[in-house]
Amino acid sequence: MLPFKVIYHPRYDLNLGAHVFPSQKFRLIYELLLRDNIAAPEDFLDPMPACDADLLRVHTPEWVSKLKNGKLTASEIMKLEVPYSPELAQAVWLAAGGSILAGTLALRDGFACNLSGGFHHAHANHGEGFCAINDVAIAIRRVQSDGAIEKAIVVDTDVHHGNGTADIFRDDSSVFTLSIHQENNYPAYKPPSDLDLPLDDGVDDEEYLATLLPAVARVLDDFCPDILFYVGGADPYEEDQLGGLRLSKSGLKARDKGVFFAARSRGIPVVTTLAGGYARRVEDTVRIHANTIVAANEVAGEIRSARHAVS
Ligand SMILES: [Zn+2]
Repeated sequence: MLPFKVIYHPRYDLNLGAHVFPSQKFRLIYELLLRDNIAAPEDFLDPMPACDADLLRVHTPEWVSKLKNGKLTASEIMKLEVPYSPELAQAVWLAAGGSILAGTLALRDGFACNLSGGFHHAHANHGEGFCAINDVAIAIRRVQSDGAIEKAIVVDTDVHHGNGTADIFRDDSSVFTLSIHQENNYPAYKPPSDLDLPLDDGVDDEEYLATLLPAVARVLDDFCPDILFYVGGADPYEEDQLGGLRLSKSGLKARDKGVFFAARSRGIPVVTTLAGGYARRVEDTVRIHANTIVAANEVAGEIRSARHAVS
């Protein structure tokens, strides 16, 4: 049994059919976590869909209404790069509800993992790059509005720049945005995050970790956030079809553990979300995402034994 909750819903599937985004991955990760005894059935919680008031702290009423009523224009669907369906809308409302629930639970348990979300390309007034609504921004504004936290940090390790998140929080000093990404990749225009770590093509485990981890430690010390939202893309993987970095599976797990340890050793709660993953073999994407849960469990154990050693 895990020392934290994993949030999952069978309707997380984005209903995309044959698409480079493997929308069956949500179910496959859930099944793998159970099959490999990484998680037990009682570790999982179902989210409720986010309510419209939650979305409206981030998104424009026009965009929320278009998504709800299926009234996207052809150019908006083209920009979204996924077909619209009522199931897609339901899935992203649930994903946002899952990130909200994870935000609340992480404050109690130290960690909480949403097996969806990380839709970091979604902007206030439009969707982009497979991302209809920005669940992480929605969750941050909700836990702030509940009075549960003041300051949040988003650590975005998806291979693509977190343009939507950077844009949404551009003038919000209560949220620090950090994005490490392949510079020569989508999106073409990258609005500035509070800290961008652009990487050249082909960067490997060693260079990646040496760039990311000292920066995370420094920012956590300087900004002192009350919570960390992790956008843990599987697409920096060397076999990814939409990424041009060369991280191995073990390098990606070391990335997750490094960020989690930096936060938890400073007492900062961590929410994990999935974001992208387009490996040639979907099993690789699924394994990399599942390893994020393994990493969280290992770090939770390390922090617990360090506390026992001190007390
Ligand atoms: Zn990505």
